[in-house]
Amino acid sequence: MDIAVIGSNMVDLIAYIDRMPAEGETLEAPDFHMGCGGKGANQAVAAARLGSDVLMVTRVGTDIFADNTVANFEKNGIDTRYVMRTEGRSGVAPIFVDAESHNSILIIKGANAQLSPADVDNAAGDIIQCKLIVLQLEVPLETVYAAIRFGKEHNIPVLLNPAPAQPDLVLSEVKDCEYFMPNESELSLLTGMPVDTIDDVRNAATTLLNAGMKNVIVTLGSRGVLWMADGIDELLPAHTVKARDTTGAGDAFIGCFSHYLVKTGDIRESIAKANRYAADSITKLGTQTSYATATEFAQL
Ligand code: ADP
Repeated sequence: MDIAVIGSNMVDLIAYIDRMPAEGETLEAPDFHMGCGGKGANQAVAAARLGSDVLMVTRVGTDIFADNTVANFEKNGIDTRYVMRTEGRSGVAPIFVDAESHNSILIIKGANAQLSPADVDNAAGDIIQCKLIVLQLEVPLETVYAAIRFGKEHNIPVLLNPAPAQPDLVLSEVKDCEYFMPNESELSLLTGMPVDTIDDVRNAATTLLNAGMKNVIVTLGSRGVLWMADGIDELLPAHTVKARDTTGAGDAFIGCFSHYLVKTGDIRESIAKANRYAADSITKLGTQTSYATATEFAQL
């Protein structure tokens, strides 16, 4: 097993609209798509499509969405032994994408809110076999903290994507992550600092390094990626592409980065690949539907 993703799954309910509705307004949406999403699942699918062996630790509900989610994991070759059932609703995410590809997203966590530290313990024997643990913040923080402690105890590097932005995240609980990978707005929220210019981003990331984090890798949308670590300060510009739908770009980035990191151990190379992979994903509609397979990625 290469990667353990301990995190969320959602069913994305995506309405493609011309413009955002005003309060009290009813608009007709020209198109609609139902897809599998959730940050944990998205990252797992991206890594698996590229060829990683991925173990998914997550919870689905007992509604009509749950079987669909499990089938989707299986279709992508992901190990589902720890996709557990919680009585009730699965996570769902109604998403609006407008004509300029701006998006607004609602998250109803459902079963994701029940993923517990005990679930991490329950999967311990298999997580231990993995070379990387990948986490996000769509499941309870205590579970994220438990997974980080587990990684530290067993010498497994941990990647935390602190998304969606969570003002309650306690930095001292997550400083042992080898890879801390926020986007610019998450970085701003966590540090209380501006991220308008690259120097602002640098200053904010530096406070995280000072807090004890090893690698801070900030995704900056069309501005690319900033990697900061001890003695390292590198900005990789974004690839120029025609954006059609940027939903899931961050997850494409994390999944691809994880895949190449486990495969090569080369952080710079993994960032460069992920930068390319995420750019490709935004040229296509949807979240997981926009993630290339290894073969497709090789052809770019
Ligand atoms: P999130 O989806 O979390 O908001 P970002 O917007 O930072 O994440 O995007 C993640 C990555 O996707 C970026 O670091 C970049 O590699 C790629 N990306 C996003 N938007 C663009 C864009 N407009 N052009 C090229 N690459 C992009």
